[in-house]
Amino acid sequence: MKIRLMAAAAPFAIALLGAGAIMPAEAKTAAAAPAYTGPFAQPSTLPFHAPDFSVIKDSDYQPAIEAGIAAELAEMEAIANNPAKPTFENTVVAMERAGTLLSRVAGVFDQLVSANTNDTLDATDTAMSPKREALKDEIYLNDKLFARVKAVHDSAAGKALTGEDKMLLETTYAKFVHRGAELDAAHKAELKQMNLRIAALETKFSQTLTAGTDAAAVVFDSKDQLAGLSDADIAAAAKRAADKGLAGKYVLALVNTTQQPALSQLTNRETRKKLFEASVTRCTGGDDSTIGIVSELAVLRAKKAKLLGLPDYATFQMYDRMVTKPAKAMEFMKGFVPALGATQSREQAILTEAAKADGVTKLEPWDWGYYAEKVRKAKYDLDDAQIKPYFNVWNTLENGVFYAATQTYGITFKRRTDLPVYHPSMRAYEVFDKDGSPLALFYFDPYARPNKQGGAWMTNFVEQSDLLGDKPVVVNTLNITPPPEGQPPLATWDDVTTMFHEFGHALHGMFASQKYPSLSGTNTARDFVEFPSQFNENFATVPQVLQHFAKNAAGETIPDALMQKIEAAEKWNQGLGFGETLEAAMLDMDWHTLNEEQAAQPPLAFEAKALAGMDAEGLHTGMIPPRYRTPYFRHIWSNGYSAGYYAYIWTEMLAHDGWDWVEKNGGMTRANGDHIRATFLGQGHSKDFSVMYHNFTGHDPQLEPMLEARGLTESQ
Ligand SMILES: [Zn+2]
Repeated sequence: MKIRLMAAAAPFAIALLGAGAIMPAEAKTAAAAPAYTGPFAQPSTLPFHAPDFSVIKDSDYQPAIEAGIAAELAEMEAIANNPAKPTFENTVVAMERAGTLLSRVAGVFDQLVSANTNDTLDATDTAMSPKREALKDEIYLNDKLFARVKAVHDSAAGKALTGEDKMLLETTYAKFVHRGAELDAAHKAELKQMNLRIAALETKFSQTLTAGTDAAAVVFDSKDQLAGLSDADIAAAAKRAADKGLAGKYVLALVNTTQQPALSQLTNRETRKKLFEASVTRCTGGDDSTIGIVSELAVLRAKKAKLLGLPDYATFQMYDRMVTKPAKAMEFMKGFVPALGATQSREQAILTEAAKADGVTKLEPWDWGYYAEKVRKAKYDLDDAQIKPYFNVWNTLENGVFYAATQTYGITFKRRTDLPVYHPSMRAYEVFDKDGSPLALFYFDPYARPNKQGGAWMTNFVEQSDLLGDKPVVVNTLNITPPPEGQPPLATWDDVTTMFHEFGHALHGMFASQKYPSLSGTNTARDFVEFPSQFNENFATVPQVLQHFAKNAAGETIPDALMQKIEAAEKWNQGLGFGETLEAAMLDMDWHTLNEEQAAQPPLAFEAKALAGMDAEGLHTGMIPPRYRTPYFRHIWSNGYSAGYYAYIWTEMLAHDGWDWVEKNGGMTRANGDHIRATFLGQGHSKDFSVMYHNFTGHDPQLEPMLEARGLTESQ
């Protein structure tokens, strides 16, 4: 669940245009602009139009994005000014065909700037983000274009459309309304200014957070302070220090969540405290503070919602979701609080008792992870060092993740060493459908790097579309700790789960079989898109799959007893594991249900109030802070998950309930694979989300399988 699907290229993933000067309506044909001749001018000549990293230079992106924006704008203007009577084909479908240059470059650039960035790419992002956002406004606030879409929408021919055509018309129309197409001219102008500022702030937040997280890395003078870490981790800390010009010292870098992996191992309480405090206070002051950015963003978002006649930004964001009302999402989340609060209390008592043995009289937040791990070891006799040898990264991918997909869906994989990659640690694979025909390309970028954002995600280099004749090219990005020099790459169980998760997104992208790119694959609602990925996590523990990949260097399969302990241990420490997630999701919803005045409160003061409110309901946020605190909550301030973090929990509920259906209907069989693919995994957004879910299981989603899986029905 620590996973995120990067906002994949939005439907018309494009964008540019700064000064409204571009393209006065009539002049515009592609011929008017200077011809763009860079590496993105034509689809790549590699298989599946895969990006040719052997020829693309960092300096190529900006001119391509600029040309892409100009081209898309010209294409949209041509549609808006078409003298022919508006039809579905010459308006709505024509819009789907527009913007291919921008999509081509953005699909590659957005991955690079997230996974392997540098100053040039960051500068391009800073320069281009507002223009890309502005392009969307140029499209969705174009009166002539909206008039045509509305004419089609309201026409008898429009109403007679069916299937994917009907969905395309409905979603296109709704997008215009969502983006302010019904506002008057003055309000439209105001909205455009707001959107530009919001986009700039979101980019600034992301860059400041990356820099601030790096700067908050904690320096230690002696190896003794790192007692408890493995030799490999200590060696990595020494190398990190040396890389920063601090030879002889040790540096622990922060990961993007509140909890830090090392907290569960560090025996020195002062070290834990230092690391924890660095984590929770990052970006709260100095050059890397995000407080001012957050404050301005919160107010602007509330203002924008008001301008559009909505009560709050959450309502604005949720217009196309499976759950459309903030109150319903909040009610869903609060449904977990009684059982979760009780679990937190119960676990805190156990940890307090365990800590007494070390003379700790009062458990502090930086102790939780450490004693939780101690209890876990005592209770389940487990530690990562025991587990990791069974999970070689590449073996897990090829003999676990791929194997499960082959058994279930009949697809096969072949490594392609001839295709260029943007980092030497990556691998590329060609994927073949069950009848042996080419289906997709899949890239895997496994290791953490200083210039990679935290977390894990999937994105498309090329989006599937029958209309455009494109097959999917997909990439999964993770942050697995790279192996020490000369050692095999080993994954934690958490990494293994994440690999299956991200591959679930990849399958959603690779099985896409839609006509229209904006309805293809993972282009689904925020509170649906994590369902296929969380669902795919279940395959990791199917005995047939596990036995196929969980092998150590000697070829020995992980013992059953060890695996049973891993599964039992997963239900331990839910007070923190699920607690921090639920708290973050509620904090997100609290932020985005504010009106303009309320949003102007000092951010940390508001956060304190929001957390106190959760405590009043029964949670323990002082001991277990949210997974992300406000100043480093990247999902909601820059990655498009605002009023959407609850979606991880909602989709987890769908995933558990969906897996319950699989287990009750024969398990991991090819027949079930075909059913899954036919009902939702290959369906993109061609149907209503609730309908797809119902087609899959035959019923509405149920909460019980999730409560069971999370161990929240027990009182262990
Ligand atoms: Zn995900």
